[in-house]
Amino acid sequence: MKKQCPFCHQQIFALVYNSHIAQHTERLPDGQQKDHYTVPPNQRYQGSLEGVPQIYYHAKCGMATRMPEEIIRSYLVNPFLYNNTTFCSGCHNYVPSKELTWTETGERLSDYTARLQEAARHISFGKLPKQSIGKRNRVVRTFLVVWSVVVFSMMGNWNRDKNLVEDGAPAIGIVKYQTHDSNLYHYYYEFTDNRGVTRTGRAGTRFNRYTVGSQVPVKFLAYDPTVNCVEPVRREKMHDDLSAVVFLSVFMAIILGVILFVMPKNT
Ligand SMILES: [Zn+2]
Ligand SMILES: [Zn+2]
Repeated sequence: MKKQCPFCHQQIFALVYNSHIAQHTERLPDGQQKDHYTVPPNQRYQGSLEGVPQIYYHAKCGMATRMPEEIIRSYLVNPFLYNNTTFCSGCHNYVPSKELTWTETGERLSDYTARLQEAARHISFGKLPKQSIGKRNRVVRTFLVVWSVVVFSMMGNWNRDKNLVEDGAPAIGIVKYQTHDSNLYHYYYEFTDNRGVTRTGRAGTRFNRYTVGSQVPVKFLAYDPTVNCVEPVRREKMHDDLSAVVFLSVFMAIILGVILFVMPKNT
């Protein structure tokens, strides 16, 4: 089981996750944390930073500090990422953002962040959450689509077989030849439909039921005699189709559960 590291964005084994995080949050000699949370590189703000304030001033110590670019590009897409302290290179420590002002605009950092957060609440509602749960959503959606297609086609076959068995016209077929593989015995039979046309069909059973020359009870759709079956054989297949749908649904639900469990929640 792995988790995504919010500092370096690598997948980290849960067992060593805490010690891995500790490496990132280690303090450097100047008092700054070695690394900071960021938004994954491909989701960061990609536009120009022209006109975006980047250097802030701390009146208490008289020093200015440059905001790292990856942090700027992160809070521009997610202004909720950081808490309300910011590193000051004069104090060698994290100080309240309300004590810091941008040299470019004179605005307090705390007001600036509040403004970004307010804007994020208004622009394209749902943009941030969508970005953060997109991958999980896509997995769930893909599974549901595949599952519906499989079930739909299986139920289609099942329904056709049901029509055939319930409403099909009866005929007597003759087994023309027979093959078998490791799973099934296959019978190729001929019968005469309601218009006197000779038709062929195929059936399979798990046990050797007929021999060449055997008469078999055939059913066919009067409006399309190419759809036909050996009645008791096809009935078995109907049950197989139904249990396959149930089996597949359970199987896919388990796989989906495992994938969602293993997948980090914030990707
Ligand atoms: Zn990391
Ligand atoms: Zn300071």
